[in-house]
Amino acid sequence: MAMEFSRCHPETRAAQALGAHDPETAGVIPAVQLSTTYLRAGDNTYQAGRVYGRGDNPTPESVEALLASLENGEEAMVFSSGMTAAIAVFLSLKPGDHIIAPQVMYWGLRLWLQTTGIAWGLKVTFVAMDNLVAVRQAVQPGKTKLIWIETPANPIWSLTDIQAVAEIAHAVGARLAVDNTVPTPVHTRPLTLGADIVMHSATKYLNGHSDVIAGALITAKADETWDRIRAYRKSGGIMLSPWDAFLLLRGMRTLFLRVTRASATAQVLAEKLYGHPLLEAVLYPGLSQHPGHEIARRQMQNGYGGMLSIIVAGGAARAIAVAAAVKLWVRATSLGGPESLIEHRASVEGGSDNPVPPGLLRLSVGLEHPNDLLDDLIAALKE
Ligand code: PLP
Repeated sequence: MAMEFSRCHPETRAAQALGAHDPETAGVIPAVQLSTTYLRAGDNTYQAGRVYGRGDNPTPESVEALLASLENGEEAMVFSSGMTAAIAVFLSLKPGDHIIAPQVMYWGLRLWLQTTGIAWGLKVTFVAMDNLVAVRQAVQPGKTKLIWIETPANPIWSLTDIQAVAEIAHAVGARLAVDNTVPTPVHTRPLTLGADIVMHSATKYLNGHSDVIAGALITAKADETWDRIRAYRKSGGIMLSPWDAFLLLRGMRTLFLRVTRASATAQVLAEKLYGHPLLEAVLYPGLSQHPGHEIARRQMQNGYGGMLSIIVAGGAARAIAVAAAVKLWVRATSLGGPESLIEHRASVEGGSDNPVPPGLLRLSVGLEHPNDLLDDLIAALKE
């Protein structure tokens, strides 16, 4: 990182993308390199040290440098999706290795662990990550190699104490990986709290415009595990495409503006909706009544994120009716875009061990005026 940026606030580093530009044309915005292959010189060497595009393209490097800087990591890698990024971490382990994962987490990843992960040979224990006694009891010294956490966790936004779980993991030589998709480095920087790897679905807030599927990993140390992950990214062809890397860097320039605005609006909505007679609960870490609020206050800065959930009184049918009645909120899955999304989460997650309450609506707060969002939701609740 250039000296002038190492002294700057993260907002400045993001806005200027660490000064990335096109050295060939002096373009202020870096160029997109689409070539899938690179010239070999007459002396049989590769002039720029690059060989083939499946594992090697310069365009993602600017966004990787920015991610490493914002998350306080040594290196970052971008992937074709959040799922491929997470799976790359799990596949850097060996069949037979034990991992501990949360009962409450992004359901797609839980499903992968329960099916492909276990079939591949991973031994997985799912625990309540807000219960440190349960986490300690789940550890198998010598066998546990990884603890995976997500905080605040989808879709009930329970909090996990990153520092405490890092200590539990390190005491038995295991690593701690944190899905930091929802808080983003604007609110939480897990590597500064002892985590070893941070993962993002960059599809969400990092890109922020609902138009790129992307994932990222950031490591505290570029060690042997990191080399294995890089080798798998190359052989598996799962790095982010140059176009998408360009768009991701563009999106990340406004990360701080977007995330702080979405969080401020989510806080207003949570406070105004709390205690509404047609709701059983409002789940948001920024509410003092939230069970994880104290941990959130300790490990989140600049707000508590743009995600909240409401539990509609009357169960699934009433919740689905409320989602059907909104005019402004967009009925769709995902999160982190400029448009606010509403979703009946149990309809998505299904399954018998589904921890999602039937009346839960997940809200991804976007960049609209808070009063417009509130009026629309309250009108839909009363319909
Ligand atoms: N982690 C979280 C918290 C998510 O919300 C998602 C997607 O919804 C993922 C991981 C998976 O990311 P992607 O959809 O980019 O593969």
